Amino acid sequence: TTSLVLFTADLRLHDHPPLRAALDEADEIVPLFVRDPAVDAAGFAAPNRLAFLHDCLADLDAALRERGGRLVLRSGDTVEQVREVAATADARTVHVAAGTSAFARRREERLRTALAADRRRLDVHDEVVTALAPGAVTPGSTGHFAVFTPYFRRWSAERLRTPGRAPQAVRVPDAIGSEPLPSRAGVPGTSPGLAAGGERVARARLASWLRSSADAYERRHDDLAADGTSRLSPHLHFGTLSPVEAVHRARARGGPGAEAFVRQLAWRDFHQQVLAARPDAARADYRPRHDRWRTGAAAREDLAAWRDGRTGYPIVDAAMRQLREEGWMHNRGRLLAASFLTKTLYLDWRHGARHFLDLLVDGDVAANQLNWQWVAGTGTDTRPNRVLNPLRQALRYDPEGAYVRRHVPELAAVRGSAVHRPWTLPAPERDRLDYPAPIADLAEASARFRAARGLP
Ligand code: FAD
Repeated sequence: TTSLVLFTADLRLHDHPPLRAALDEADEIVPLFVRDPAVDAAGFAAPNRLAFLHDCLADLDAALRERGGRLVLRSGDTVEQVREVAATADARTVHVAAGTSAFARRREERLRTALAADRRRLDVHDEVVTALAPGAVTPGSTGHFAVFTPYFRRWSAERLRTPGRAPQAVRVPDAIGSEPLPSRAGVPGTSPGLAAGGERVARARLASWLRSSADAYERRHDDLAADGTSRLSPHLHFGTLSPVEAVHRARARGGPGAEAFVRQLAWRDFHQQVLAARPDAARADYRPRHDRWRTGAAAREDLAAWRDGRTGYPIVDAAMRQLREEGWMHNRGRLLAASFLTKTLYLDWRHGARHFLDLLVDGDVAANQLNWQWVAGTGTDTRPNRVLNPLRQALRYDPEGAYVRRHVPELAAVRGSAVHRPWTLPAPERDRLDYPAPIADLAEASARFRAARGLP
C-alpha cells in the first residue's frame, strides 16, 4: 500500500506526525511538496522566503535520500496535483498538517472534497505547525483568547505530546516523477545577509543556542546589540523545527532563560489561535479604533523614508536597515519601528505589515499581522494607546549605540550614545554626516496621535 504526505509548513523529518502515520500504515510513501501559484499570489513569494524555501526543500530531499527515499516536487494547484499524484501512486490516504490561515483551511476543505470524490481519505494532523492547536484551550465565554496572560496560563498547563524521532527508512515508488529542485542561487533580489534554511541548520541552531545562549536570554533578549535571541523564527515558520520539540528541549534545558524562550513560543501559538478564530484580522482591525490614518503626499514621503531607514531617528533606521540587509529584524527593533510608523507618523499599520512581509524571511500572516495590530493598538494589546519614544527606547536597549553603528554606516564614527541624537552634535560634525534630520517632532507627533484617538 501507498500513502501520500503533503508537506506544507512542516519541512522536516523529525517529530512529524503526518509522516509517522503514513509510514505506520503503508509500505511506500510519496513525500510531496507543491509550489502553488495561489500561495505566491497570496503574498508568499518574497525573494528572501523563496530562497530560504529552496534551501529547505534541498535539505528535505537530501535527508529523505539518506533514508532511501526522495522528495517529489510539483507545481500547480495543490488540490489538482495531490489528486493526480495520489491517483498515479494509488495512495489511499493523504496526510497533511492542519493550517491556521484562511488560505490553508480553504485548501484543506477543497482537498477533503476532491479526495472523497476519488474515494481517498484526507487525514489532517494537529499540533505540527503549532505546539498547541488553535482551539485546544479556550476561555469559557468566547472561542479564543484575546489576552495573552490567561492564555499562557492554560497553554502551560497542557501536556504536549512527546516529540517523535525521524524515520530510519523511507521507500518512495519509482513511478512518481518529480520536477527538478530549485536552488537558492536562482532567486534574485535576496538580502545579502540572509540566513540558510533547512532542518539540519535548524536543529544545529536550536542545540547550540540552548547550550550557549539560553541562560542569558532572559537578561539579554531586549538588548539590540547583544543579538542574543534564538533566530529560530524562520525555522519555526517553515517548520524545519517542530515547535513541540523546541518546547520539550527548552524545558529539558531548564532555567529562567529557557522558560522565557518557551513563553515566546506560546506567543507564537497565541497569535495563531487569534488568526484561526478571526481570519479577517489578517487585513481588518481586530478591534477597530476608527483611525483616520494619514494619507496624501507628505504621508507617502514619510512612509518611503521609514522603509528606506532614513527617518533621522538612528534606532528606527538601524532596525529598518537590518531588515533589508538580513531579511530579519530583532524583536525590539520590530516593536519600535512599528510604533514609529503607526503612532509617531500615524500611518496605517497595513503599510508597515506589507513592507515587513516583503522582506522578512520569517514573514508569517499570524505573527506579522497580529503583532502589527498589537503595536498599532488595533489588536490584543491591553494598553492600545501607549507610544514608544524612539529616543528613550534607544538609550535603554542600545545604551552604547553599537546596534546603530552596526547598521547605519553614516554614523559609524559617532561615539557612545551620542549616536542616538545626531541632531545635537556640534554643527561642523553634524554637517559632515550624510544623515537626515528627524522627519517628525516627537512631542507634536504624540499630540497628534492622542487627539486622533480622542485622548486627553
Ligand atoms: P526568540 O526571541 O528567540 O523567540 C523564539 C520564537 O518565539 C521565535 O522564533 C518566534 O517563533 C516566537 N516568537 C517570539 N516572539 C513572538 C511574538 N511576539 N509573536 C509571535 N511569535 C513570537 N515573528 C514571526 O515569526 N514572523 C513575523 O512575521 C513577525 N512579524 C512581527 C512584526 C512585528 C511588528 C513585531 C513587533 C513582531 C513580529 N514577530 C514576527 C515576532 C518576533 O519579533 C519574532 O518572532 C522574533 O523577533 C524572531 O526572532 P527570534 O527567533 O530570535 O525570537
